[in-house]
Amino acid sequence: MGFKHWNAGGYSGLRVLAEGLLGNKGWTPAWRDPAPKDSYDAVIIGGGGHGLSTAYYLAKNHGLTNIAVLEKGYLGGGNVGRNTTIVRANYFLPGNSEFYSHSLKLWEGLEQELNYNVMHSQRGLINLFHSDGQRDAFARRGNAMVNQGDDAVLLDRAGVRRMLPYLDFDNARFPIYGGLYHARGGTARHDAVAWGYARGADRLGVDLIQNCEVTGIDVEGGRVLGVQTTRGAIKARKVAMIVAGRSGQVAAMAGMRLPVESHILQAFVTEGLKPCIDHVISFGMGHFYISQSDKGGLVFGGDLDFYASYAQRGNLPMVEHVMEAGMALMPMIGRPKVLRSWGGIMDMTPDGSPIIDKTHIDGLFIDCGWNYGGFKAVPASGWCMAHLMATGESHEVARGFRLNRFETGHLLDEEGTGSQHNLH
Ligand SMILES: Cc1cc2nc3c(=O)[nH]c(=O)nc-3n(C[C@H](O)[C@H](O)[C@H](O)COP(=O)(O)OP(=O)(O)OC[C@H]3O[C@@H](n4cnc5c(N)ncnc54)[C@H](O)[C@@H]3O)c2cc1C
Repeated sequence: MGFKHWNAGGYSGLRVLAEGLLGNKGWTPAWRDPAPKDSYDAVIIGGGGHGLSTAYYLAKNHGLTNIAVLEKGYLGGGNVGRNTTIVRANYFLPGNSEFYSHSLKLWEGLEQELNYNVMHSQRGLINLFHSDGQRDAFARRGNAMVNQGDDAVLLDRAGVRRMLPYLDFDNARFPIYGGLYHARGGTARHDAVAWGYARGADRLGVDLIQNCEVTGIDVEGGRVLGVQTTRGAIKARKVAMIVAGRSGQVAAMAGMRLPVESHILQAFVTEGLKPCIDHVISFGMGHFYISQSDKGGLVFGGDLDFYASYAQRGNLPMVEHVMEAGMALMPMIGRPKVLRSWGGIMDMTPDGSPIIDKTHIDGLFIDCGWNYGGFKAVPASGWCMAHLMATGESHEVARGFRLNRFETGHLLDEEGTGSQHNLH
């Protein structure tokens, strides 16, 4: 008992040892389960990675602690716990590259910052290329990454073969010419990121309210007044909509129509194997990416299901497409059994880049449009959204993520695929 008070719920090696000796009876829940108050200074709708990191940095960086995160399900039950966990800073366009560069730096200190093991593993990411034209494009991207202060090395075919000897280098359709190696890229345990930020925010005084769905947004005279929820009305001078795949539906509660479509992305994991894939591999031609989890499962995914949906589960044609791409890249993948597959709802914008901005309603903010790359953005998105909510100004690394760029034409089309949501 005395020990519990002495350590006040903190995590340390000494505590693990002491708890082990004392029968592990002193552990307490990682965060409180408070009832919602009638009013807060700020309310965040959505307890995913971005909502939780925003709450954490609002409290930590800006001293705003009278805030609540309202989550309709349980913390980490959305995309933050459904992704393939790839963390990287290999963007090309100014506007994107400084943001993801900032995010990767935050990732590199995250475990110390949160005192939580998010299993961030910088095992290196290799983007393969399969033609001379693609090599040129990757050389250009690599130079942009280095200019941004991040790392990139262009590997020739022999260089890739040394690192990934098990690939099919002479595939008739997509022979491997080389790869762009990003050594600081890697993976992290996705739900631990949600739990770490949740615990950190709770310890700074933020109320995390689960099973609390926002059903309406109260606006009067162009100003936000609060929200209606399944657990009653809550007043707030600032409200942030950070609900990923549900952005269109929640923004509609404030009468807004967003340039966002919701699409399904599936992921897959095999039975546990001995370590065989040491890196993250991205195979752009087949749109397939893979890594191996610390439990041994091969974790991989591919394209969106290509039709707009809120179903949170995908269909068989994309399963077949992903398996074919895996077989084309590394035939050995045909041996293990797939254990599980699942889907998440992706908030796709017409240029593939996100939105972190104010809205035309005073006090109402929006953070959305993460497409299928929002996991790696969790730290910087929270950092920049908190900055915007606290100061009223966009953070310098998020200035490109304006909502009105779809009117003004200042698009950030990293893929160069035009305005079709499902192609980004
Ligand atoms: C299969 C898959 C693979 C992916 N792979 C990667 C990857 O490798 N790397 C990468 O960087 N990104 C990846 N992503 C993308 C990334 O997961 C998302 O962009 C990111 O998690 C979205 O932000 P979030 O964590 O805040 O979303 P979420 O976790 O979905 O959070 C939104 C929350 O809002 C809540 N909510 C919705 N409506 C309401 C309401 N009315 N009231 C209250 N709460 C509400 C939801 O319940 C949910 O918990 C992948 C996504 C999927 C699905």
